Amino acid sequence: MFKTVTVLAVSCGALLAGCGGDPRSENEEIRSNLIEAGFRAEDIRVVGEDTYVGGDAQVSLRASREMLQTGEGSAEQYRTTNLVSIPTVTKICINPSSMFNTYNRLSQGLDQAIANYNALGLCFSMARGPTTGCSAVITAVPIPGTGASSGFPAGGRPYNQISIGYGLNTSSLDVVEHIITHELGHALGLRHSDYYSHAISCGTGGNEGTAGVGAILIPGTPATSYAGASLMNACMLANTTGEFTSSDITALTWLYRC
Ligand SMILES: [Zn+2]
Repeated sequence: MFKTVTVLAVSCGALLAGCGGDPRSENEEIRSNLIEAGFRAEDIRVVGEDTYVGGDAQVSLRASREMLQTGEGSAEQYRTTNLVSIPTVTKICINPSSMFNTYNRLSQGLDQAIANYNALGLCFSMARGPTTGCSAVITAVPIPGTGASSGFPAGGRPYNQISIGYGLNTSSLDVVEHIITHELGHALGLRHSDYYSHAISCGTGGNEGTAGVGAILIPGTPATSYAGASLMNACMLANTTGEFTSSDITALTWLYRC
């Protein structure tokens, strides 16, 4: 167990409250509802003000709401209602602040976290900025301590900042890779995989609930959760490798592979 990440969970929750009031377009809700109902992201298309599924089936907001079925059981990977819009967002640039760059281990961890996402072949690439051609930008800043925080997508774009404790600069590269990959996961709309019981990864702790942003099961992810099962667990193992688990890959490719 790694206590740091418990703090991180709290930080995330605090940021969520700020994000909860963001307006959400009707089409975004329809898309979210369709995905929750089991349609693949690539089969959903927006033309003008209308949303279509499967090429030619227009879906109204009401219809999409009626498709929703009650979630059941406790599965492993969860997402927020809001997601990053694909294929609108094709390149996400992560811009470290100049202070962030002075922390060598954080800087290395950022490169590895970006590589983790780029290895998945998603609809969007990630690039360390500043650079050109960015359809969305996430700033990386250092904060005191060993916690970290992020937020969730709004308006079809990832959350615009990850904050990483510079106290982690003396941690292993795998730990820093894990934490930065985790925070980027939130920015892309992933909830904690054990949001419903932190006891699973932290040994103690309760249920975050939907937190105003939704906690929607991602199809295809395993029905059981355990410590070390996901980079998106609230707490991590001290010996983390910093790499995605198989269920993390299932979740991200379901959401974001074209
Ligand atoms: Zn988190």
